[in-house]
Amino acid sequence: MPPERYAVIGDPIEHSLSPAMQTAAFASAGLDAVYEAHRIPPARLAAHMARFREAYAGLNVTIPHKETVLRQLDQVDPVARSLGAANTLVCRGGRLVGYNTDPAGFQALLSGAAADEPGALAVLFGAGGAARAVLHVLLGLGDRVVLVNRDERRAVARAALDPLRVEVVPRDDRRLPGLLSRADIVVNATPLGMRHLAYESPLPPGAALAQRAVAIDLVYGRLTPFLRTARDQGCVAVDGLEMLVQQGAESFRLWTGGEPDIDAMRAACLQQIEEAECSVS
Ligand code: NAP
Repeated sequence: MPPERYAVIGDPIEHSLSPAMQTAAFASAGLDAVYEAHRIPPARLAAHMARFREAYAGLNVTIPHKETVLRQLDQVDPVARSLGAANTLVCRGGRLVGYNTDPAGFQALLSGAAADEPGALAVLFGAGGAARAVLHVLLGLGDRVVLVNRDERRAVARAALDPLRVEVVPRDDRRLPGLLSRADIVVNATPLGMRHLAYESPLPPGAALAQRAVAIDLVYGRLTPFLRTARDQGCVAVDGLEMLVQQGAESFRLWTGGEPDIDAMRAACLQQIEEAECSVS
């Protein structure tokens, strides 16, 4: 029997940690499987899906295909449907079923940081795909969310999910510092702090966070200015690696029905991050 084939598809795809992470999980489980990375330009997605449907057991889907891939699927689970995006596909008997494991990844990160008590006040920076998953989890917990985004109209569209519990606050709003000082959870779901925006933070200048707050940066593998500010103010500061690993673990469970070796997945990611940092320094 040939090994089962899995892949991550996106454009660009070179920097994805999924091949290393899932290869480590398959190896640790003793499964005969290969995990590839395919760069698929948007215009070629539909043509490639026919091939994946036949020859692959499962896929991860990343930018820019998470939304458009829904049109190619035979079935979409309720979480992916409500987010309007899928990041994991299971192929069985020529049928493609779409899931979104980002909320499970964020939920696991929150639990690990003991920040999953219901009813918290959260400030969420960003209104893109990752923010949508974060919002889904926070609202599911019964939290109240202050949403801050560069493009305010996009934030307003997200807030329409639950207008009673999501309040959109402009980035330069006078109320923002006070809300940040009272927030139990502050999440950065923007790329500010990534390598190409290394000195940027979503926090307004001089912002003070509550000492008991949990600050979560979905950017992973680096101490971003946001996390440094939070840590210096005595907050619990957590980067996005655990969300990445846990969403991958959930994909593995959907494909295999088994429990992955999460330590091996995390170690594989850390090694890739270290190698990438070394290659630019
Ligand atoms: P996305 O859909 O492109 O959304 C990007 C968000 O960031 C938007 O709200 C955008 O605001 C905002 N933004 C972009 N550039 C900005 C800038 N220069 N100043 C202020 N705001 C800016 O991307 P995404 O998929 O949500 O990803 C967001 C971040 O989360 C990335 O760093 C990504 O690596 C990270 N992420 C991590 C995980 C994980 O597992 N740890 C998972 C997914 C994503 P506008 O609406 O105004 O454009």
